[in-house]
Amino acid sequence: MRMSQMYFKTLREVPAEAEIPSHIWLLRAGMIRKLVSGVYGFMPLGRRSLLKIEEIVREEMNAKGAQEILMSAICPAELWQETGRWQAYGPEMWRLKDRNQREFCLGPTHEEIFTDIIRNEVDSYRQLPLNLYQIQTKYRDEKRPRFGLMRSREFIMKDAYSFDRDREGLDKSYQEMYDAYEKVFTRCGLSFRAVEADTGAIGGSDSHEFTALSEYGESEIVYCESCDMAATRERAGFSDAAPSEEAMLPMKEVHTPGTKTIAAVAEYLGLKEEQTCKALLFQVDGQEYKYAAAFLRGDRELNMTKLINALKIPEHAIEFADENAMHEETGCVGGFTGPMGLRNCKLIVDSELVGARNLCAGACKADHHVLNVNYGRDYKADVVADLKLIGDGDPCPCCGAPVKMTRGIEVGQVFKLGTKYSEAMHAYYKDENQQEKVIVMGCYGIGVSRTLAAIVEQHHDEDGIIWPMSVAPYHAIITIVNPKDEAQLALGEALYQELQAAKVEVLLDDRQERPGVKFKDADLIGIPVRVNVGKKAGEGLVEFKLRAEKGTVEMTAPEAAAEIRRLVEESR
Ligand code: ATP
Ligand code: MG
Repeated sequence: MRMSQMYFKTLREVPAEAEIPSHIWLLRAGMIRKLVSGVYGFMPLGRRSLLKIEEIVREEMNAKGAQEILMSAICPAELWQETGRWQAYGPEMWRLKDRNQREFCLGPTHEEIFTDIIRNEVDSYRQLPLNLYQIQTKYRDEKRPRFGLMRSREFIMKDAYSFDRDREGLDKSYQEMYDAYEKVFTRCGLSFRAVEADTGAIGGSDSHEFTALSEYGESEIVYCESCDMAATRERAGFSDAAPSEEAMLPMKEVHTPGTKTIAAVAEYLGLKEEQTCKALLFQVDGQEYKYAAAFLRGDRELNMTKLINALKIPEHAIEFADENAMHEETGCVGGFTGPMGLRNCKLIVDSELVGARNLCAGACKADHHVLNVNYGRDYKADVVADLKLIGDGDPCPCCGAPVKMTRGIEVGQVFKLGTKYSEAMHAYYKDENQQEKVIVMGCYGIGVSRTLAAIVEQHHDEDGIIWPMSVAPYHAIITIVNPKDEAQLALGEALYQELQAAKVEVLLDDRQERPGVKFKDADLIGIPVRVNVGKKAGEGLVEFKLRAEKGTVEMTAPEAAAEIRRLVEESR
């Protein structure tokens, strides 16, 4: 491509809402453009890199025998009603009606759609296993779209669904997708980690998240250096200490004026925070109970995902409650709520409290707490579950060594769905004995557009993007330093032709611009190799420069061409 003819515009400034490097550089390099909040378009260079990622994904999926199809983004509500997700998915689902008032959504994910295809067309064990995938635009009306392509409302996803005869089949399909994902992200040049993950609203049993390591990532990961435990923070278990052997002491109400926080009451009574019990109050939609109260040791943090899982409700159905508003109905008292004296409220108690002894809890009475509160004797829960959020240095749930934490960007996730969808939607097959069996499913997603952003997050410097060769919009750029110089033009043009003939994707910067402007643009858009054709063009000499390195090397034009071909070959 001749840059004098290429549609591209770099920016010197970007809007303040672009806070993280990938968002800033993708905008500045003219790769993406924003339409409205969380909705972006891909300009020529961005589109090329996106297609490269898609192609890597496609190759690795096909290598595992998965077959590509393409379904519509428009999904009829009825399919989602069959699994109950029309309700459960909540406000993130982008809903619409046609002229006859029939309801649809723009697919946020496609389990129902693929299951529908299979139930209609598969009936014999001979047709299984199957793995179908698509690379398609997804819609999620995210509460807080941000960071450009990272959390957008329209994005490109590769979603695959496996259909097996039994659990063993699923285990194999899952492992194949896991292996394919490792290859995809390695080829994309990402430094990543596969960690155990929560299955969330999708349901099912096992799941892994593939996380590109980055300080701006929204995924928190905990891992252990003594064993191989690695999980998202929301998923990581927490091993409770052995039950206390202390004797239960008699309860005692104490006056604790103005001590509305755990820190305040602990200080007032001269206790450690771990000797207290704290309450977190929630309002819940769409259940037979309206309020829920969670109790944890005073020094612990609540893990919202564990709470939602324990209550078996969707994420959007629960929010922090206004304690004043629920006082009348439940008896709670802001800052002084304890597990005794609460009514009309679902009680969820952290598992650690069962074996703890003689804690201090709110008295459900203004300015009062109760000492020596004990689970079992003084109060009981509707649900007991691990609700704790693990933190840096907490004991590893597998081996007990202190865990470490890091952050990353979730670029992909794989799930063992089991029979959740196939049962709800009656996707059956007949086995060798003509017995009807339920199909066992897995699902596997890659955020293709998010991966593009994650790559930039890991590959940039103060001048712009540094694309890995495998996903660069072009492999090389030839910069003609002075396009008015005949020798420079001729040598640049010859090199351009030679590289194109060798199937190298190459840009020729033939623009009538100052060299400084051209060098800056080449750095900004991150082309892996630059060849400067300048003063020594008459002698057949050029400057060879790698975007990732500082210096230039002088060589002949054919030497430069050979080196570029070698680098491109190596990246394939
Ligand atoms: P998140 O926890 O980040 O909201 P998710 O777990 O809901 O993501 P999945 O349903 O697992 O996402 O979707 C598969 C992949 O699609 C994710 O691993 C991620 O890479 C990508 N993805 C999900 N939501 C978005 C989004 N809003 N913008 C861009 N990519 C996304
Ligand atoms: Mg996910």
